[in-house]
Amino acid sequence: MLIVQKYGGTSVGDTERIKRVARRIAKTYDQGHRVVVVVSAMTGQTDRLIELAHKVSKVPDPRELDALLATGEQASAALLTMALKDMGYNATSLLAFQARIITDNAFGRARIDKIDSPILQEEIERGNIVVVAGFQGIDSHGNITTLGRGGSDTTAVALAAALKADLCEIYTDVEGVFTADPKICPDAIKIPRISYDEMMEMASLGAKVLQIRCVEFAKKYNVPVHVRSSFSEVEGTMVVKEEPEMERVIVAAVTCDKNEARITITRVPDRPGIAAQIFKPIGEVGIVVDMIIQNTSAEGLTDVTFTVPKADFHQAMEISRSVASKIGAERVLGDEHIAKVSIVGVGMKSHSGVAAKMFSTLAKEGINILMISTSEIKISCVVDEKVAERATKVLHDAFILNKA
Ligand code: ASP
Ligand code: MG
Repeated sequence: MLIVQKYGGTSVGDTERIKRVARRIAKTYDQGHRVVVVVSAMTGQTDRLIELAHKVSKVPDPRELDALLATGEQASAALLTMALKDMGYNATSLLAFQARIITDNAFGRARIDKIDSPILQEEIERGNIVVVAGFQGIDSHGNITTLGRGGSDTTAVALAAALKADLCEIYTDVEGVFTADPKICPDAIKIPRISYDEMMEMASLGAKVLQIRCVEFAKKYNVPVHVRSSFSEVEGTMVVKEEPEMERVIVAAVTCDKNEARITITRVPDRPGIAAQIFKPIGEVGIVVDMIIQNTSAEGLTDVTFTVPKADFHQAMEISRSVASKIGAERVLGDEHIAKVSIVGVGMKSHSGVAAKMFSTLAKEGINILMISTSEIKISCVVDEKVAERATKVLHDAFILNKA
């Protein structure tokens, strides 16, 4: 088999761990597989580099920031390759320009367009272990780009797709994907198999196991992904195409996302084009709006409420205030202390009463719901940050453990 293995920052966190990862790779290789490895930067390294950048510049130049951040993965790829060679294995490290990981030119959040790598193919055919630096790419002008935080996952899946690998293994510091964050719900259970769609929802709802783009890629190219721990041998979670049995589980997981903030513009004139006037300038600066709620009122005035990432809250507030005065709205209210609690499962498509059960479970606990949004396979409720973990627990009890 051709296997792509990705090792995250904690798995290569120090030199002892790098050697341990090298042994694990060697073991797979010795079993007769061809192995392509993708590595992240050593734990904390990307954060340290970002901090350095901010010490020399208030708003670091995006191109130079990517050139800086890419060094983290360059270092770990080289170190891991040395360790493999030291053990007597033929290994080569490749950076993005060598593996020809071509992206667009959106520095800091580049998307992979294609990977066409004669060198990579040659190395594999020669029987070498190839270690590719994750997270980085090059644009069509040869500039170094990066794929956004957690982007090495995406490098791994994109490589697996390009090489038509049999399997993509993501080695991390947790044993797989759980029914809830074990830090919040100690009785959370590891999920053996989960569909791409459920995993994608979970990634966008704050579960940090996989980067969302990585799952998008996996789904598009049908790459089976095995999320597992680099510290143990136990099987993790397989992320795969939806299977008929998956529908029997109504709720696969409960998530809790504390990364959003809420903005309300009150008494907005209710006429065509107003929503566009509010959301266009917010979108133009690259802020991604998540939930939007608009009420209709009898007097031709309405409240518009929406959520944005916490990191973009202040900028979004400023834009909203200026829009509000332009369109004659009353005022802008902001709340950073919210959390979004969600239930996810493909089984929801074919079961009724799921939303009602979610709302009554929260009601029984006296938890007030501030906003609701749904998709075919998830229901999200925005609640006060203070009660978010309790909400997650009671929903996990009710839906996953089936305790009243
Ligand atoms: N080193 C990058 C980060 O910390 C990419 C990754 O770890 O996947 O976000
Ligand atoms: Mg990571």
